[in-house]
Amino acid sequence: MLPLAEDISRVAQSVRHCVECGNFDTADTCRICRNTDRDQSRICVVEDVADLWAMERAGVFSGRYHVLGGVMSAIDGVGPEELRIDYLVSKSGEDAVQEVILATSATVDGQTTAHYIAERLEPTKVQVTRLAHGVPVGGELDYLDDGTLAQAMRARRQIND
Ligand SMILES: [Zn+2]
Repeated sequence: MLPLAEDISRVAQSVRHCVECGNFDTADTCRICRNTDRDQSRICVVEDVADLWAMERAGVFSGRYHVLGGVMSAIDGVGPEELRIDYLVSKSGEDAVQEVILATSATVDGQTTAHYIAERLEPTKVQVTRLAHGVPVGGELDYLDDGTLAQAMRARRQIND
């Protein structure tokens, strides 16, 4: 057990937050931010590092990230300062950035945070998008809650020409 505990302790001491995006890494700037092959024109905003890695696992996004480290919450006393939103706004104002994708949760706090960020980004020229919400892949309609079904109906897309 001791070597394992020592390894865990060593990892815990060397891991830190990336100064750019908030991801975990052993360097000040993480592997993703250091990778110049990634699309520098898109920033995906996620709540936490687990969400970032879910995106990476799925291989659906090749741009940069901004990890909020939570969502705005009046009850928990979390405001924009805690989520480094000023830094996100200034980064989004860079010429290279064309799109900010808000990938916060479909919870009240997640959506409130997304709205707040969209408002803050209004003065920049950047396009602001949000992940679609609706029927999960493999999901059956009669198992869905009313809110999900309503959102899926609102976000419907035309599939013929
Ligand atoms: Zn990073």
